Formats: sequence, structure tokens, C-alpha cells
Amino acid sequence: MEETPVNLHDLTRNELRLLFARWGLATVHAVTVWNRLYLGLATAITEKEMPGLPPRILDRLAAGARLTSPGVALATDSTDGFTRKYLLALEDGRKIETVLMRYSGRVTACVSSQAGCAMGCVFCATGQMGFTRHLAAGEIVAQAVHVARALRAAPSDSIGSSAGSPELRHVLSDKLGERRGDRADQPKAGAAPDRRLRNIVLMGMGEPLHNYDAVMRAVDILRDPAGLALAAERITLSTVGVVPGILRLAREGRPLHLAVSLHAATQEGRAALIPGARRWPLDELMAACRAYSESTGRRIFYEWTLIAGRNDSPEEARQLGRLLRGLPAQVNLIPLNPTVGYEGEPTRAEPVRLFQSVLREEFGLPCTVRQRRGIDISAGCGQLAVNAA
Ligand code: SAH
Ligand code: SF4
Repeated sequence: MEETPVNLHDLTRNELRLLFARWGLATVHAVTVWNRLYLGLATAITEKEMPGLPPRILDRLAAGARLTSPGVALATDSTDGFTRKYLLALEDGRKIETVLMRYSGRVTACVSSQAGCAMGCVFCATGQMGFTRHLAAGEIVAQAVHVARALRAAPSDSIGSSAGSPELRHVLSDKLGERRGDRADQPKAGAAPDRRLRNIVLMGMGEPLHNYDAVMRAVDILRDPAGLALAAERITLSTVGVVPGILRLAREGRPLHLAVSLHAATQEGRAALIPGARRWPLDELMAACRAYSESTGRRIFYEWTLIAGRNDSPEEARQLGRLLRGLPAQVNLIPLNPTVGYEGEPTRAEPVRLFQSVLREEFGLPCTVRQRRGIDISAGCGQLAVNAA
């Protein structure tokens, strides 16, 4: 049986070098290919996309490898002026969503790790669609390459053109509340639009720690200093609480930001909202978070989707405060975004403030509220879903 040719985006730089060595080709060509992939942002194995390769090398590459850059099935801009959602078609026809968030001085790609999700969170559109399949590392890498390419092609496009307003910048820094404490990363007034992709959030479709190996391989490729060179501290991985994955991440020590979605501070409360989390009781999850923080010295961001009348009372804020006592933690509150399959309402502004002030004042916990973005195009947290996936 013939093997499927390897997808170039699946390979680390060293693996690409080894592939060339196996083919008996000089390393210098592997270096050229790598540069075309991650500096040139190539999307195909063609002379146009990979200039500088001798024809026989290009032929060998085209025969022995593939580059499965996803096609854009649809690109939609939000009226907020900062958010663009891409519906990307994978090689097998499955579709995923990738979101580009842009404002003065910072561009963030929100990438998917799975087509669908097996965790079944009742309020999440991806959870409502069910699990289709894991994404390969190369399919995760390709999303970042796609966004990087879009930025390079259209540095002055509509996204971000109105991002100079201090008020809007404030809103946006809130949306990525996990970065709040990072002063050096704050947008600067009047800064020129950034043409490079510098930030990735693994918060698109899917549960990244359910697809651990592919996600970490993708992270390693994205971090390669000779490639897209994303700094680990600008990559945030959000998990619903896959305990073995958190412990493995702690052991392997990649210095990413970790966000854990809690939504409830009791096992029963979580099980009702996150059926997939029943496998990992809350006390085990919190023990894993503690172990992670102890071994890495890093604080964790805890996410809490606020649903009116469901998990937004001051008493629930106190339960959360008690749960996080003694842990290096920051809380991100996300008022519920609407999805077709869930009738809950977002918590209104006043109870959100109350919830936040309980955590801040009674427990001394840093706590930010993520502003709603891209809601009109269903690009907000938990709104990503593809009917035909
Ligand atoms: N699977 C991972 C990452 C993707 S979801 C996780 O669950 O953490 C990213 C974030 O969006 C999570 O914190 C999730 O709880 C939140 N979210 C999901 N659906 C939402 C909705 N309808 N409104 C607001 N936030 C939502
Ligand atoms: Fe999956 Fe995260 Fe959505 Fe839950 S919130 S269904 S874990 S993508």
C-alpha cells in the first residue's frame, strides 16, 4: 500500500532536515523549504510559492510530500471592526473556524484544535455539534500560517483601522483579559498596524488537551525561532480541565499560558454544564492545577462563563473564591454568548460587576471581564460551529 505523502506543516525543522537526508538531498534545500514555509508563508509546493529550489528538488518534494493549506470557504468581518472569522476547508472537506482579532499593536489568531468537540458543554456551539475528528498538527499550524499570510497581504485592511480609539483599545485589552498584567504588551496609541502574527490563543473549536500530541507538536513548530517564532508567553491554551493533559503539560514544561474553564465551583455544577468533565472530579482537577502551578511557578487563568441565574450569584463567586484560595490565579469572566442550542441568557452588567467585586475585594483575586467581540458573526467564545462538519 502506498503511503500518504507527509504534510510539510506536520514537520519540525529537524524532521524536515531528516526527510531531505533520507532522500539523499542536501540540507541546504531543506533550509530553503523551511524558509519558504514559515518566512515566505507558502501554501503550495510550486515554483511560485517556493522560489529558489532547483526544479529536480521541487519535483522530488512534490512527489514525496504535500502541503495541505486549507482553503477559505468564507471570510466574515464583524461590525466591531476588529474581528474576522475564517471558515477553512480541510483536505477531507471538513470545515473549521479560525478567528483573527486585531487592534492597534496586536494581532491574535484564535485557532481550532479539533473539528467539533467531545466535551459537550451545553452552552457552547462547538460542543453542541459533537466531535468529528482531531486536527493534525499541520492543520493547526496552517491556521496560524493562514492568519499570518492574511496580515501580510492586507496590513491596512478594515480590521483594526478604527483601533486607535482609547476606549476601544481598553475594551480589547479586556477581551484578552489574561494579558492584562503584561504592561509591555499593551497597545500603544497611534501604533502602526502590526503585520506579524504574534499571539495565538488555542480557544477555537475543540478541546486542545484532548488532542495533546498534535497540539504540542503544532506549538513547537509555531515557536521555532527560525520560523513563525511565536513567543511561548504569547500562546494561551484553554482547557475544560483534562487532568492528565494538565499534569503532562506541567511535566513537559512548555512555558505557555494555561487557562482552565471552570464555570462552576462544585462537581455537580460542573457536571451539569460540562458533561465531558464528569471523568475528572473537581478535586482532582484542582489538585492538578495546584501541581501545575507548583512545578512551573506559573499562575493559571480560570475562566467562568456567566449565565444569568445559573452560576452568577455572589454566593457562587464566594464558592469560586474559596476554591482558588492559595492558588496563583486570575479569573476571566465571560458573559454568555448566544448559541442556537442553549436558551440561557448572559449575566447583565450589574451582577457581573458584583461577581467581580466579590472575587477582588473579599478574596483579593485579580479578575477581568472579557468583552463581547465578533458576536454578530458568531465569532465570540463558544460560538464557533460548522453545520456541515
Ligand atoms: N475547549 C476549551 C477551549 C475552547 S472554548 C475550553 O473549553 O476551555 C474557549 C472558551 O470559551 C472557554 O472558556 C469556554 O468555556 C468559553 N465558552 C464556550 N461557549 C461559550 C459561550 N456560549 N459564551 C461564552 N463563553 C463560552
Ligand atoms: Fe469543547 Fe471548550 Fe466548547 Fe466545552 S467550551 S464544548 S470543551 S470547545
